[in-house]
Amino acid sequence: MEKFSEQINEYQTCLFCGSNLVYPVERTQLNENGWKVAVRCPNCFGFRVECMHRDVMVGLIRNANKGREDLAKTFNQMAKKTMEEESDKMISALHRDQILPIDF
Ligand SMILES: [Zn+2]
Repeated sequence: MEKFSEQINEYQTCLFCGSNLVYPVERTQLNENGWKVAVRCPNCFGFRVECMHRDVMVGLIRNANKGREDLAKTFNQMAKKTMEEESDKMISALHRDQILPIDF
């Protein structure tokens, strides 16, 4: 996999906007190790089809999965932080008697 890392970076980089978040969306096996892979850029929605070695495709998929996991983790952290901030505001408002039955 190490010898393909440069190619993975090349395919993962968008030719249109330079984003390095390009990910595979569809694939077709051509032969034992060759795959035709359609990739899309989430930044500019650029789309292209490339032929690549199986290990390069696996690397692209692995990077895309890691990116999704990182994004989900960041989202969950932000949601937790927002919930904590809202809870703090609610507690503060309760202590100052600023919440009335009419608020519900
Ligand atoms: Zn792009």
